[in-house]
Amino acid sequence: MGLTACPSCEGQVSTQAAFCPKCGHQFKTPGSVNLKDPVHMIGLVVIVLFVVGVAGYILRVVWTAI
Ligand SMILES: [Zn+2]
Repeated sequence: MGLTACPSCEGQVSTQAAFCPKCGHQFKTPGSVNLKDPVHMIGLVVIVLFVVGVAGYILRVVWTAI
């Protein structure tokens, strides 16, 4: 946990803070998924397709093994 300078008031703010306690400037919350961001949306779709693909592969293997 460190400190960063607020771009609005240039005060020292915790990097974990969602907004500046002095001026109320909002920071990007690291680690949170923003679904309005197309990059995150594509990542989510890729993950879903991957999971569905793996699940389908496992089901096929189990099915042929019986
Ligand atoms: Zn500030």
